[in-house]
Amino acid sequence: MEKKISVCLTFDFDAISLWLGGFHATSLSAISRGEFGRVGAERLIAMLREWNIKSTWFIPGHSAETYPQIVEQLVADGHEIGNHGYLHTNPKDPEDEAEILDRGNEVLTRMTGQRPIGHRSPGAGLSYNMVDLLHDRGFLYDSSLMGDDFSPYYLRAGDRHPNDGPYVFGKNIDVVEIPFTWGLDDFPAFEFVSSRNGIQQGLSAPSAVYEIWAGDFDYLYDRLGEGVYTLTMHPQVIGRGHRLLMLEKLVRHIGSHRGIEFKTMAEVARGWKQSHQL
Ligand SMILES: [Zn+2]
Repeated sequence: MEKKISVCLTFDFDAISLWLGGFHATSLSAISRGEFGRVGAERLIAMLREWNIKSTWFIPGHSAETYPQIVEQLVADGHEIGNHGYLHTNPKDPEDEAEILDRGNEVLTRMTGQRPIGHRSPGAGLSYNMVDLLHDRGFLYDSSLMGDDFSPYYLRAGDRHPNDGPYVFGKNIDVVEIPFTWGLDDFPAFEFVSSRNGIQQGLSAPSAVYEIWAGDFDYLYDRLGEGVYTLTMHPQVIGRGHRLLMLEKLVRHIGSHRGIEFKTMAEVARGWKQSHQL
């Protein structure tokens, strides 16, 4: 069987917003970890140029406004930019959710000249309400859920979770979900975080992460032969030297296979919709 694998390199350019919004940091040391995101982003932009790969960047409005030069370079190089909220927060109040989604859209549209058609929830905190908002706003796709691994699917509206019966699945809606997983995300593996919620050890050897990331790719390629392989990375995390070397090695490994194609998530979502009716 001919192999048909799409590979999405995705980068969440959380930068300082992650520490302010996600971790409520106040120290300059914590905030400077986000500042390193600029260094990582510049290295990645250069590498992607060298590899001639178009990737997808989810950028909080706060990061875009803090680092307009990074957004400019990404647009100039033809990368896709998706909505990632404003200050990397997931408010509980539906009205606040709508406001943050719209603010992210407003900033990115103003800065890139294009309205984002993709969305990833900050910290993978997608709510039932947000599904409706994405549909209302005409988003093409989301990438925050883990209901499958290598196969996109349609988001559902109207899911319910009663405590006295089975889960109730709602109706498919016209927004594609391109799933992600923490296992193919650099943050839990690599980032040491000590916060009010406890300690995340991180700081994995790149060889251990390579084993996981390549292992999932090899399974997809050898056993399934068709699907979407999505990596989720953060410039402030993957941008350290030893990790970039690991990423280089993985991209070489993936690129050595026939029937694979690096694509943006928008390209994947459009292609998938053509062969999967709602
Ligand atoms: Zn993020």
